[in-house]
Amino acid sequence: MRISLRLLSKMPPVLKKFDYLVIGGGSGGIASARRAAEFGVKVGLVEEARMGGTCVNVGCVPKKIMFNTAVHAEMIKDHKDYGFDVELKQFTWGRVKAARDSYIKRLNGIYESNLDKSKVDHIHGHAKFTDDGKVEVGGNLYEADKILIATGGHPVIPDTPGAEHGITSDGFFDLEDLPKRVVVVGAGYIAVELAGIFGSLGAKTSILIRYDQVLRNFDGMISQAVTENLEHGGVEVCRKTQISKVTKEGDGTLTLELNNGQISKVDCLLWAVGRRPNTASLNLEKQGIQMDKAGHIIVDEYQNTNAKNIFALGDVCGKALLTPVAIAAGRRLAHRLFDNKPDLKLDYSNIATVVFSHPPVGTVGLTEEEAKAKYGADKIKIYNSTFTPMYYAVTSRKEKCSMKLICALPEEKVVGLHMIGQAVDEILQGFAVAIKMGATKAQFDETVAIHPTSGEELVTLR
Ligand code: FAD
Ligand code: NDP
Repeated sequence: MRISLRLLSKMPPVLKKFDYLVIGGGSGGIASARRAAEFGVKVGLVEEARMGGTCVNVGCVPKKIMFNTAVHAEMIKDHKDYGFDVELKQFTWGRVKAARDSYIKRLNGIYESNLDKSKVDHIHGHAKFTDDGKVEVGGNLYEADKILIATGGHPVIPDTPGAEHGITSDGFFDLEDLPKRVVVVGAGYIAVELAGIFGSLGAKTSILIRYDQVLRNFDGMISQAVTENLEHGGVEVCRKTQISKVTKEGDGTLTLELNNGQISKVDCLLWAVGRRPNTASLNLEKQGIQMDKAGHIIVDEYQNTNAKNIFALGDVCGKALLTPVAIAAGRRLAHRLFDNKPDLKLDYSNIATVVFSHPPVGTVGLTEEEAKAKYGADKIKIYNSTFTPMYYAVTSRKEKCSMKLICALPEEKVVGLHMIGQAVDEILQGFAVAIKMGATKAQFDETVAIHPTSGEELVTLR
């Protein structure tokens, strides 16, 4: 009598076979799945949570709404100077949260229906590889010729005693009210952005950093200016400070014991000390897929893992953790695999990025330090400008704008642009195109300025 191997291993039969199975319904996964489906292939996408991933649910989108809210709080201070006698009665966090949550719910629905329109089969549940290279979701088995891992990442909570009493950026979006006293730990994008929002909206906010400045891997001009602006905006910057213990009191107050011996009492502690890839429960080891020490999937420039027909992109790979990067990599991969474009890949150089600090930061290309290392200190020329944007001409509240252009000699090719100031988040995109195209300082200068704007400064630098 023949006994089926399947019965012996107690595995269910394969429910469905796809040409392309995408694990993760975030920015990269959705973009790649929908683009692949355009080429007539049979695509499945597995998502265990809400459709849209980090960016839509607990990242860029709700964050930008809270950034806009904080910008309102700042501009209200200028209304009088512009002639408006507006009386501010109160700010209701719950009202903007409700509007934000319902906007995101709508987006979740739009993402679901876009997948339907693209004829991408979506499967709800947690995916993991079986030992023989299939994908199991909720007890069902799926098979695919090609599999994409785009599972993103999650925020880290350190192993400090009592750290679990704090929240992360995920918890920030669950807050029902603006806490009165907040400590944010960390020095990267998220710490800076969320501390800025809390501070602008009126919470007594401190940011605890391990060194002297935030955003230390940005150009020095940016790290210094963002650190100063946090302080200028009322956020207490606690340098070389770390938490050694957290305890929660009966009334919910958190007592923080600091490495300098001080004790701090707060209503909210937010950890923003980095993110880790979602790879631990995928059973990747069984596929022999190589990962780095932090668990990021190692890929080549074409998003190939070392396992045949298994690809990875986006945050799970740990390089340029940005939504448009995941989307661009996902779409290019779909073209390469299913649209007969074998050489298509994402160029990871000159990716523009914005930190939504107050005021925002916009940067693309090399920092001054990187340019010196690449070309030599005597082979680059730096142009700087610091000015007060015209918006502040009549206001008592002043905020400076600084811009730095880094050019490689002899032709003065622009290799880096770093800006901080009102509106630079919107100014950057067009200049990023020029820099990607290899523009020189002379070409910037040949471009007639738009007056009166802050952007014109970039084509009139001397
Ligand atoms: P994700 O969007 O994280 O998607 C991964 C998906 O996979 C998730 O939905 C997850 O539930 C699912 N998943 C994981 N494991 C499994 C499994 N085993 N089975 C099934 N599903 C699984 N970027 C910007 O460009 N601009 C910004 O302003 C910006 N702001 C941000 C603010 C915050 C607070 C955060 C946290 C991030 C921000 N980012 C921003 C970064 C951006 O959100 C990410 O770079 C982007 O979401 C990465 O996309 P991804 O597809 O790689 O992963
Ligand atoms: P980041 O990696 O940007 O920053 C985390 C920082 O926290 C580290 O650089 C480190 O700075 C500090 N840190 C690390 N460990 C500790 C610790 N134990 N105690 C105190 N500080 C610590 O991570 P984020 O979580 O802020 O963001 C993750 C990524 O998400 C970003 O890199 C970005 O790509 C993306 N993102 C993009 C946004 C945008 O586009 N606007 C917004 C938000 C996120 P130091 O070494 O100086 O101490």
